[in-house]
Amino acid sequence: MIQTKGERIFFCIFLIFLMFIINWSTGAGNYYSTMDKKTQDLQDKKDIEIETNSPMEIITASDKNKFTMNDNDDNKDAVQKIIYLIKCLSDEKKENTLTNELEEIRKTIREKKAELISGDLILVNKWTSLEPSYVPEDLIEIPDNDSSETIKCSIPGLQIKKSVYEALTNMFISAKNAGYDDLVVISGYRSYDLQDTLYKNEVNKLKQKYGEQNAEKKAAEVVAPPGTSEHQAGLAIDLTISSFLQEADPLVEEFGQTAQGKWLQENSWKYGFIIRYLPDKKDLTGIIYEPWHLRYVGMPHSEIMYKNNWCLEEYLEFIKEKEHVQFKEYDIFYSKVPLPEEVFIKEFGDEIKYSISGNGYDGYIITIAKNNS
Ligand SMILES: [Zn+2]
Repeated sequence: MIQTKGERIFFCIFLIFLMFIINWSTGAGNYYSTMDKKTQDLQDKKDIEIETNSPMEIITASDKNKFTMNDNDDNKDAVQKIIYLIKCLSDEKKENTLTNELEEIRKTIREKKAELISGDLILVNKWTSLEPSYVPEDLIEIPDNDSSETIKCSIPGLQIKKSVYEALTNMFISAKNAGYDDLVVISGYRSYDLQDTLYKNEVNKLKQKYGEQNAEKKAAEVVAPPGTSEHQAGLAIDLTISSFLQEADPLVEEFGQTAQGKWLQENSWKYGFIIRYLPDKKDLTGIIYEPWHLRYVGMPHSEIMYKNNWCLEEYLEFIKEKEHVQFKEYDIFYSKVPLPEEVFIKEFGDEIKYSISGNGYDGYIITIAKNNS
């Protein structure tokens, strides 16, 4: 029994303390276990280390105070990510960057009109198409009389983006070392007009069998309608083996069952490529299984997609939802507005390797390699 005033006060304080403990353990505790569960689910899916953080969580109060947060949302989004990057810098540089560069950063964000459709991660599919006038900037011709004959092509003059060419060269060298020197590139960059011709040919071929309207639908599963092909972006190649070249159509599903096809499935991610159209992703990509069609996305994106069995559509949405993903030595951000490259070059130059790519529809992906790896 509680007798004295002192005992009553003590009992009340004890009750408040007990309620506080219960509230903390059920509220905050659940919050963290939910977070842990999400991360666990992700890691259980495959043996892969991905950490996700919202950029807001890594900005300290003192950093925030240096900024007036009444800018428009897009501006704020980019500024927050820059603050994070600045936090990666050494202490001396940090203070200097925060105080002197912010106005410049904001100004650049407002002025810069980077294209959503440039970079290695742009999405091109039947729902996200390219303009007829779209031609990638840095197309190069695969040398057909390459003295080392690293990359074999079925026809001379095939073009691809420069970044793809370098990766493709490395992949061909590795394939050769693994005993596969008969891989052949059949197709690289295709203009809108060429794609238009290929598509119309396919429709004509299928008209008798399926009728006019259905022929278009059926054709679109095999040949992308103009504007919806990754080949127009210069980021895709079609591969086969020399013995298949004699066939009427050297691009057949059986390619996936050949030793070379299997080698590509297991190893192409190491060079920044993905098998773009997987059999179980047809509903998401809109395209049937194409073991011969490789798409360049670059590292570490190809590795994350490969190890999680994600197609590009799934991966881009994953990055967008998480906003910030840490994978091995990489930080990957989604941003609604382009981050100003000038800032990276000026402030990070030799310290941080980074790339910025549009996702092709509503934002940008910034990939930063930490520790200059
Ligand atoms: Zn293709």
